[in-house]
Amino acid sequence: MENKNKLIYLDYNSTTPVDRRVVDAMLPYFYDHPGNAASHHHAYGWAAEDAVDQARKQVADLINVSAKELVFTSGATESNNLAIKGVFQTYQSKGKHIVTVKTEHKAVLDACLAVEKMGGEVTYLEVDEEGLVNLDLLAEAIRPDTVLVSIMWANNETGVIQPMEAIGKVCAEQNTLLMSDATQAVGKIPIFPKEAGVHLLSCSAHKLYGPKGVGALYVSNRQPRVKIGAQIVGGGHEEGMRSGTLNVPGIVGFGKSAALAKTEMAKEAERLAKLRNRLETALLELPEVYRNGPASPRLPQVSNLSFKYIKGEALMMAFKEELAVSSGSACTSANPDPSHVLLSMGISENMAEAALRFSLGRFTTTEQIDRSIEVVKKAVAKVRAESPAWQLFQDGVDLAPMGWA
Ligand SMILES: *Cc1c(COP(=O)(O)O)cnc(C)c1O
Repeated sequence: MENKNKLIYLDYNSTTPVDRRVVDAMLPYFYDHPGNAASHHHAYGWAAEDAVDQARKQVADLINVSAKELVFTSGATESNNLAIKGVFQTYQSKGKHIVTVKTEHKAVLDACLAVEKMGGEVTYLEVDEEGLVNLDLLAEAIRPDTVLVSIMWANNETGVIQPMEAIGKVCAEQNTLLMSDATQAVGKIPIFPKEAGVHLLSCSAHKLYGPKGVGALYVSNRQPRVKIGAQIVGGGHEEGMRSGTLNVPGIVGFGKSAALAKTEMAKEAERLAKLRNRLETALLELPEVYRNGPASPRLPQVSNLSFKYIKGEALMMAFKEELAVSSGSACTSANPDPSHVLLSMGISENMAEAALRFSLGRFTTTEQIDRSIEVVKKAVAKVRAESPAWQLFQDGVDLAPMGWA
């Protein structure tokens, strides 16, 4: 990954390679310290427990919460399920209503569907053309029986950053718990749930140069003390909120990746924004290329562009030997439907199908970006040359209103 591959990786929002420093921190917990963190009667167990304690503190420090408020999970999908189903089950005496947003990750939307199947009611908020939540609509949607509002911190497809502090105020005024899927934001931009009035927060190690299969859920334990029902039982690990032997090497890796993010994030964000803007500016200079979502507020590493009159899939196939990016609803590429995120922003089905997501990261270089610009430009010219819709557009007939697929 560190520059040796010919195939340029610009799909960091799907997953990141593990940083070597992270792997180095993990290795002793496979070999020298193989203990179970729940074994309290010998030094192997104590070593594992100490390592988990340190990692818990490292992750907590990154988002400025107390280590006691973190539950380790298998990733953000599990954290989202635990938060949404766990709150729904515990706060039934208050009500059965949840508010979320149409552009959430499937891990939130599907957990909300599960809640509906359990007898709950869910309101799915619309977003504006930039993908932002409207605070007045949010305030109107919250009811006396609303137990949870779930709004992602930053979107995985467009990078748009929601105004979490303002959202936190609306929820506080109406005395509702607020949870945020911050999987794309943690380690990329400063995220402080307590300051923003966020009571539950999901994140995942593999989005910040840690290993796959490890995540965390922040659960506020003071003002308010949030209680969630466990979804996985058996042994009472993690204060009873998530049972199962802890993935010690994975958690150590998560801790290390969080510590690295804390010291390197600010400089890295600046570097990535420059590279992203270099890529975006060059591609927007091509005719009929449009950005999906706002220039800001946005994560520094992502650019979502639609190449009008051709399909994103066709474009990806044209440069698949040289460049790896995502199309459509990226995270569920098993699902070929156009992105629900882009459609919710009022983008047409054709333009959503014409979209590609470029996401950069720690090992992206200027040379790779310049090479990517060339590769994309060449592929756009090639695929458009084969597109009847593009030919008609050149002749002055615009098929866009009817669709060109
Ligand atoms: C990647 C991602 C997830 C899923 O995380 P896993 O750890 O892979 O389960 C959830 N939400 C968002 C916003 C993501 O980007």
